[in-house]
Amino acid sequence: MKLICPECKNEIDLTNYPDLADGHIIECNHCGITLNVKEVGENYVAEVVDEGK
Ligand SMILES: [Zn+2]
Repeated sequence: MKLICPECKNEIDLTNYPDLADGHIIECNHCGITLNVKEVGENYVAEVVDEGK
């Protein structure tokens, strides 16, 4: 399974998140953006978290 960052379109390294599930907050290892995992299936889907910065 893999997750493509919606911001930078790079594939995020998920080896740091072995227990990834819906609702988990992860960080893109390419652009550093915070993402909320929305779907766990054949591929992961995540959306950008607005941190209000
Ligand atoms: Zn990214």
